[in-house]
Amino acid sequence: MTSPRVVVIGTGYVGLTTGACLASLGHAVVCADADQDKVDRLARGRIDILEPGLAELVTSGTAAGRLTCVGTSEKAFGRFLRNAEIVFLCVPTPMGAGGLADLGILETVVRQISELLPPGCTVVTKSTVPVGTATRLTQLLRRDDVSMVSNPEFLREGNAVRDFLHPDRVVVGSADREAAEQVASLYASLNAPIVLTDAASAELIKYAANCFLAVKLSYANAIAELCDRAGADVADVAAGMGFDRRIGKEFLAPGPGWGGSCLPKDTSALLQLADSMDFEFRLVRAAIDTNIRQHKRVVDKIREVVTGTRLGSMSGVRLALLGLTFKAGTNDLRDSPALAVAALLREAGAELVAYDPAVDSADSRIADLPFPVTDDPHHAARGADAIVVLTEWPEFRELDWHRLATVVRTPVVVDTRNLLDASSLSRAGFGWTGLGKPPRS
Ligand code: NAD
Repeated sequence: MTSPRVVVIGTGYVGLTTGACLASLGHAVVCADADQDKVDRLARGRIDILEPGLAELVTSGTAAGRLTCVGTSEKAFGRFLRNAEIVFLCVPTPMGAGGLADLGILETVVRQISELLPPGCTVVTKSTVPVGTATRLTQLLRRDDVSMVSNPEFLREGNAVRDFLHPDRVVVGSADREAAEQVASLYASLNAPIVLTDAASAELIKYAANCFLAVKLSYANAIAELCDRAGADVADVAAGMGFDRRIGKEFLAPGPGWGGSCLPKDTSALLQLADSMDFEFRLVRAAIDTNIRQHKRVVDKIREVVTGTRLGSMSGVRLALLGLTFKAGTNDLRDSPALAVAALLREAGAELVAYDPAVDSADSRIADLPFPVTDDPHHAARGADAIVVLTEWPEFRELDWHRLATVVRTPVVVDTRNLLDASSLSRAGFGWTGLGKPPRS
């Protein structure tokens, strides 16, 4: 059996990973994007996103002639589409008005490609989309000879290639069983469990899974708050919970709140979807509210550490922020809880300087931030009343804390990720306050 000709539209975290990984599995793939600069950078081997192994796969796929990148305004794009057997849609579905998923880009792309697709082609939605989208896109396509399949993606940023090549499961849903099986066959060599279902179920699986994770994280943050009040240690509580296989060890660590490009928009979209079906999804609502409260709780904690009170202004307080990305291992700043906490700290009057190992001070994405970002953690810490850890970058453990102690105004760390070892910090002269754990002076 020859490998089907695949076109992937959108070369972001999901699209480029999908294209490069499918090429590495031996498929012939064309990756297309509307951003011509991005495509040109890709052609020169430059990749904007921080994903271990991705650049290597793009390079090897291109060298083997299995991976080609093209702009959607280039003539060649139409030629590739006219020859395609499977077309993946990996474009953004951001949060739109009223919290609903905005399908504008997706629908525009479907309209654009509709007439170019050859008979028998299969269009696959990998973007996260609400239940009913496959039906809606089928209507927009107006093609009886083209099949629509839903194949949601579950990769984690920072681990995208590994997650794609070693998935916990692959979900494929369609009214057209043959088309679903054709898409599933692309993943056959991965030996992952494949959930073959209808399109609505596939679409809902993605939201159900992401929202479950958000609920779990909010639960972990609420338990950490209880630990604070009860004098318990959240690390031990989480360990004691996590050994239970029904619960699992992952996603039990407290933090400044969950964020990133998926959980906030997906929780909101599921809530709106439920609403539209006259179902008040209180559990998801509570997870979102708990998350918003978590940002404030972290700010209150910082305020208490630096001013001695949970109320009042932080005017005149200087804080060094360590970490801006929404989690370690990625350079993604979208909906980062670190930025949400920073905004509240600014509102309270604090003066901020930030450092993040994955965010360059010349990065255009931070040009509008109302505080400086430096390339040197010692520079960020100079004169600080507290160092605040907001992202769990392991390299923060390796910083020269003895040296940092000589440049801060007050040697105290608020560690919203419980990342650092309080005893080592204490030896360097720092006091330490985390979440759900007794503080160390
Ligand atoms: P992204 O912003 O990283 O990439 C999207 C790409 O689409 C960009 O390169 C952009 O230039 C391109 N694009 C935009 N409009 C286009 C158009 N009209 N034609 C062609 N290309 C266009 O987004 P992402 O993080 O890869 O997310 C894509 C989808 O996958 C979203 O629905 C998201 O919810 C979902 N998803 C994301 C993740 C993740 O961790 N990032 C995980 C699973 C699912």
